[in-house]
Amino acid sequence: MILHVAVPQPLRKTFDYLLPPTLTEQPIAPGMRVRVPWGKKEIIVVVMEVGFKSEVPLEKLRPILAVLDKEPLICKKLIAFCVWAADYYHHPIGETIALTFPPVMRRQVPKSSSKKNIYWQLTPAGLALDLNTFKRAPRQLEAMQLLLQYPQGCTLDNLLAAGISRSALTELQKQDWLAQTIVTVTPALPNNPYHSRPQHANFSPLALNEEQAAAVKMIKEHLDHFVPIVLDGVTGSGKTEVYLHCIHEALNRSKQILVLIPEISLTPQTIKRFQSRFTDTPIALFHSGLSDSERLKQWQTAQSGQARIIIGTRSVLFTPLPNLGLIIIDEAHDPSLKQQDNLRYSARDLALKRGQLAQVPVILGSATHTLDTLLQVKKERFLSVSLTLRAGEARLPDFQVIDVRRQKMLGGLAFAMREEISRHLATGNQVLLFLNRRGFAASLLCHDCGWTADCERCDARMTLHRQPYQLHCHHCEAVAPVIRVCNACNGENIINVGTGTERIEQYLQEFFPAYPTIRVDRDTAHNKEALENLLALIHDDKPKILIGTQMLAKGHHFPKVSLVGILNVDQGLCSPDFRATEQLAQLITQVAGRAGRAETPGLVLLQTHYPDNPFIIQLLKEGYRAFADAALEERALAGLPPYTAIAVIRSESPMQNTNMAFLNAVQDLAANEPSSGIITIGPMPAAMARRAGYFRAVLIFQAADKTLLQNGLRMLISKIDQLKLRNKVRWHVDVDPISMF
Ligand SMILES: [Zn+2]
Ligand SMILES: [Zn+2]
Ligand SMILES: [Zn+2]
Repeated sequence: MILHVAVPQPLRKTFDYLLPPTLTEQPIAPGMRVRVPWGKKEIIVVVMEVGFKSEVPLEKLRPILAVLDKEPLICKKLIAFCVWAADYYHHPIGETIALTFPPVMRRQVPKSSSKKNIYWQLTPAGLALDLNTFKRAPRQLEAMQLLLQYPQGCTLDNLLAAGISRSALTELQKQDWLAQTIVTVTPALPNNPYHSRPQHANFSPLALNEEQAAAVKMIKEHLDHFVPIVLDGVTGSGKTEVYLHCIHEALNRSKQILVLIPEISLTPQTIKRFQSRFTDTPIALFHSGLSDSERLKQWQTAQSGQARIIIGTRSVLFTPLPNLGLIIIDEAHDPSLKQQDNLRYSARDLALKRGQLAQVPVILGSATHTLDTLLQVKKERFLSVSLTLRAGEARLPDFQVIDVRRQKMLGGLAFAMREEISRHLATGNQVLLFLNRRGFAASLLCHDCGWTADCERCDARMTLHRQPYQLHCHHCEAVAPVIRVCNACNGENIINVGTGTERIEQYLQEFFPAYPTIRVDRDTAHNKEALENLLALIHDDKPKILIGTQMLAKGHHFPKVSLVGILNVDQGLCSPDFRATEQLAQLITQVAGRAGRAETPGLVLLQTHYPDNPFIIQLLKEGYRAFADAALEERALAGLPPYTAIAVIRSESPMQNTNMAFLNAVQDLAANEPSSGIITIGPMPAAMARRAGYFRAVLIFQAADKTLLQNGLRMLISKIDQLKLRNKVRWHVDVDPISMF
């Protein structure tokens, strides 16, 4: 028999191996891991297909060395999903399929390890024990509970990684309840039947308003088939309560529910919300802070069907779920749903694909849906249901623009802004100031000759920080000492230019000494715990000033905030990227949504040099939907996505000439196929032409629709793989990029 396997290497194809007669005793199927020779090494790969034919002559095929699983780890639908994703994003299949299980399961066990085949396994006596025996031995009880889940046994490493104590194992072994055995294949994973759980999950619902109830009713009617459902709810309208009711219904149908949320919202607070409402339902949680062994544990509960609610950031989408019944994407507009390296996928688009393959509905929730989603609703390809009322009588905030032209700014704040801040603080409320730039000052400038503190490795200025006192490049993380004498002219007139969150905080402490300030950005909230601590400080509800970047703008609820100040949007208004205004409109609406969420009516003040900008006027007067309608019309006229399809090829190299030569060659390949229907734009240097020492350039591909684009790209990439120049650069394809340059 021939095994077609996916190798975790940057190669866009599968490889064939022989199944030797010595291994034909065991069942072999797609989705199992096998160990194979790879050059002079051994690697772990996944079987994609089992067949009898190969394009390689039989005598050239090498036999596999071992079968590592008794049952497939991933089902055929998930394999099909990965094949689709690898094909659509033009990414190696081996690297794509590797996303379906945790890194520890892809790792090769060191050859020297003599313990590699030794498993700790419960004896028949051990299996028959009453767990009450261990009432007074909690460590042994822990070990027993885990081992009972793995009747085929666990390695010592696995047990220790799971927090089991060595002495507990020794004690159990002394009683002949536990034994060490030698096993030739990895035991199958625990397979706790999900239906051993109560059919009706324990759920404490909150009362729904009429709109919420209608949304829940509508979604329930579609739980048995695939359909994208757009939940369009203004901030504070109680989308989460709708999710929870739908989750409850899916649980009652014995299904697993997959919930995607942005990393920034994945705080203990969010998790508690789910746990407190579904007290007897096992929940698996995936986020970037998990250790390898924690990740393995979470994965096993999801893959076995034991965990019923699976919550995570975008990559959770690749988790094997035997009983998937519903997919929910919260904040479905969030740019963080797009992966920006390796497999550059949109988690929203892949969630729809996974829902389609599993024939389950996909709920997209947001207050500011992307233009693409809204177009699909207009075309009636997606269902849509709206929540327009804010919970608890809360009203949407009022908007006002502050024209900052020729105004004297103090600490980046105009006079009217400072007045409103003191008024709102005096009435006992909180104030939130949003600025999308951390650090103290954007950079240093020599007032005598115009020299600026640029990063040596990027086409970018270095940001000045006070704590720690240094220059810092936000693009390559380089740091440098702060200088006070100009490098170019020896002048001593070095000034700070541009305002960051750190500087604003300093000014606020001078202006409003009676009120505490809390700064939330990547420098103060460098991990989840730090963020959680800052949020806890905010929730004491005393008057104070919150100042922060995007981290503060997303997801979190601040019921005492009555004034939101948006300090600088002008950069977003001037961006050459056609998606910039869409993202800015989403951001402004989301930040504004933090105000007046409870009984306090809110005010949003926006500082700009462009008070007459039609986009700003429309967004503030008529709201996000009116903006989106107008923006869609513009995109249609300009022939831009979502009415057309775009991909880019980016190239990086120590020499810009090499990038241009490579991309010109790619463009020639495209030009030789005029029938493909693809037009190219560029090549051109990227907006930041140099980053971390590498020059960057980009070539844009546009086609009338996604199918044409895909066909063209497929043809093109097979030809690029023949180009000699491709080895001189680092290049990648980005399909449906969220930023072009
Ligand atoms: Zn100078
Ligand atoms: Zn910095
Ligand atoms: Zn840099």
